[in-house]
Amino acid sequence: MILNKILPLGDNKLYETSHPVLKEELASLKTTIEDLHDIILAFRAKYNAGRAVASPQIGVMKRIICWNIDEPITMINPELSDLSEEMMEVWDDCMCFPNLLVKVNRHKSCTLRFFNEAWNLQTWHLVGDQSELIQHEYDHLNGILATQRAIDNKSFCWR
Ligand SMILES: [Zn+2]
Repeated sequence: MILNKILPLGDNKLYETSHPVLKEELASLKTTIEDLHDIILAFRAKYNAGRAVASPQIGVMKRIICWNIDEPITMINPELSDLSEEMMEVWDDCMCFPNLLVKVNRHKSCTLRFFNEAWNLQTWHLVGDQSELIQHEYDHLNGILATQRAIDNKSFCWR
């Protein structure tokens, strides 16, 4: 069961910072990337949710995000910029704690740059739910969970 690869809330690895991917090691990460894309589909089949996952969530401490909204996209060494001053309040969830919702503030829009699997630099401008999604996944690469961004101590809800 591929979902068993996801580390649960409380695992120390989830609080570690992940390392940049070197171009020459990309081939050795192919299986990890396939697993991450399979996890999105498996998670969706089980929970009817799940649009993206970050590599450290399965204990591979590399700066990779796999994303699947219209199609599977692999984001290598992503960087966020142009974070809007305007914020949005959202109830966030996470594959590491599928039944817990956490109320957080996210930037309403941002710019994302990443290398794709062909190592071409991509630039995306994201707003709304895609902006909050990428901020959640990007946090994973820096060892930050939504629980650490809770607005206050009542910002938790069991689903
Ligand atoms: Zn998450």
